[in-house]
Amino acid sequence: MDIKSNLAEVENKIVNACKKAGRDRSEVRLIAVSKTKPVEVLQEVYDENIRYFGENKVQELSDKIPKLPSDIKWHFIGHLQRNKVKYIIGKVDLIHSVDSLRLAKQIDDDSKKNNLISNILIQVNVSNESTKFGTSNEEVFDLIKAVSELENIRVKGLMTIAPATNNPEECRVYFKKLKELSTEIEKLNLKNVEMKELSMGMTGDYEIAIEEGATLVRVGTGIFGERVYS
Ligand SMILES: *Cc1c(COP(=O)(O)O)cnc(C)c1O
Repeated sequence: MDIKSNLAEVENKIVNACKKAGRDRSEVRLIAVSKTKPVEVLQEVYDENIRYFGENKVQELSDKIPKLPSDIKWHFIGHLQRNKVKYIIGKVDLIHSVDSLRLAKQIDDDSKKNNLISNILIQVNVSNESTKFGTSNEEVFDLIKAVSELENIRVKGLMTIAPATNNPEECRVYFKKLKELSTEIEKLNLKNVEMKELSMGMTGDYEIAIEEGATLVRVGTGIFGERVYS
């Protein structure tokens, strides 16, 4: 399978999942998760009209940005260390992985220094797995209330990573939970907080995520093939 047919297959599945859920295709954005892949391959995907790319390492992202077209919207989807925030501020469209007030404050500080506003999602560890980053289903409310006081941050929604499983149906409950949390948070009417985006669904489970309300799906393997870590 080549990139072109992979993309056609992913697009087809997105369209079908939207139909099944009675949603419009325009409600779902595809983020091509390009971590570990060389820029030549990202360019191929770009040439197929994909403009959203997801990376999870600050160094790798910084290396790739100058080598690719400037109209790409970069999404940071990995665990972010506070001392590296300064390298991505102003360069990314959305940070999906904010899970602590300390990190949010750093993003706010660095955004102020650069005289700009940063868009973020709050990552929730909905399945409560000890191996995963993210705030808990209980703590997310206090975290968002505190983050809403930060002037140079806009919260655009929530993000989660479902547990790895061979049966994507098992992820549905976690996607439902994230949607439920987002509905509850929306009711709080907090300043600087919108619950427009739900970043959920990866190669194995994005169709289910779309059925449950995902607006951003993060697909790596389904587009680029398996990742090889050296
Ligand atoms: C790697 C990664 C993905 C993509 O995973 P695939 O299974 O290859 O689609 C999505 N989200 C996050 C946070 C990732 O780190």
